[in-house]
Amino acid sequence: MHIPFLDLKAQYQSIKEEIQSALAEVIAQTAFAGGPFVARFEQAFAEFCGCREAVGVGSGTEALWMALLALGVGPGDEVITVPNTFIATAEAVSFCGAKPVFVDIDERTYNLDPNKLEDFLKKQDKGTKVKETGESWRPVSRSSGAGRLKAIVPVHLYGQPADMDPILELAEKYGLAVIEDACQAHGAEYKGRRAGSMGAAGCFSFYPGKNLGAYGEAGAVTSNNPELAGWIRTFRDHGQPKRYYHDRVGWNGRMDGFQGAVLGVKLPHLEGWNNQRREKADLYRRYLGEMEEILLPAEAEYARHIYHIYPIRVKNRDEVIQALTEKGVNCGIHYPLPIHLQKAYAFLGHKAGDFPTAETVASELISLPMYPELTEEQIVYVAECLKEAVVP
Ligand SMILES: *Cc1c(COP(=O)(O)O)cnc(C)c1O
Repeated sequence: MHIPFLDLKAQYQSIKEEIQSALAEVIAQTAFAGGPFVARFEQAFAEFCGCREAVGVGSGTEALWMALLALGVGPGDEVITVPNTFIATAEAVSFCGAKPVFVDIDERTYNLDPNKLEDFLKKQDKGTKVKETGESWRPVSRSSGAGRLKAIVPVHLYGQPADMDPILELAEKYGLAVIEDACQAHGAEYKGRRAGSMGAAGCFSFYPGKNLGAYGEAGAVTSNNPELAGWIRTFRDHGQPKRYYHDRVGWNGRMDGFQGAVLGVKLPHLEGWNNQRREKADLYRRYLGEMEEILLPAEAEYARHIYHIYPIRVKNRDEVIQALTEKGVNCGIHYPLPIHLQKAYAFLGHKAGDFPTAETVASELISLPMYPELTEEQIVYVAECLKEAVVP
């Protein structure tokens, strides 16, 4: 048996006609850059997220960067995030000229640990002024002092929301903006609230492999703040509210018309696909639950996990992956090396041991195949191979 890590072809087969007619319509209308298909998707996606606004951009990385810029993050500032995320979260901070500072994660949810966040903020508080204003966001033009904490970017990793209430409370107390990295969490919920609707902004990626994937690159910023959304709407279009009249220095960060059309076709299916992923997670639990050597992902009591990734933990990770590969089961590791230990971020001066939970977890993780079309037979096979491969 061969079981791919991800199977995008199976999904395409199920929506082929709809997709092809939507793409043909984009061509017929020559609506290639931005345009009505993007606008229609933005509206539907905002509604899906329980947000006032959604702004389509070029990628998730760009969504994070623009949201941080819109909130006034700039040179000399610091932004808190976690070390166990896709590097784009930190890159977006860097390309605002700011510095990513890391806080370790919770051992079971793999998301930002609010207790560690509080300890970190208390330590910062001793020397300097952190609390500045009660504003939940600031316009981009606001210049900032050196080394000043500006924002927190919790990541809803693997499709499970971070513990947002204490994070939002701490942010309020310390005058920090919260930007959700919801790139893996389209439709995930925290106490009934959708990912991307809780912070000042939510950032989504529609990279093809995400739960809602484009047929190319795309992303979006969600927000309940029309001023912030409006800022990004103008910024992504060269700072021009009116064609060739540029109010500020902007960027070309529009969503592609084809992507808007594809996403518009796929969005109505997303709820069903997410539910199917949750069913597959239940099946994995049924067939693997009794194995002491395998730690399955935990769904927190406050969360609706949408299993973008199905991460398990084992002690002999590399051997298990090799054994699975030999049996035709393709797995992934999300992510093998935390950001603070990456070469790209060596200049931050971190060393092994700085974020012990993230480091331990990174050495034990395996991402099992997970997609809506995965069959029970395939899951049974993966489970059998796994049981043979783990150390007894
Ligand atoms: C995918 C992803 C991104 C980046 O999105 P792109 O669309 O690939 O730029 C950022 N953060 C996280 C957590 C992601 O999973």
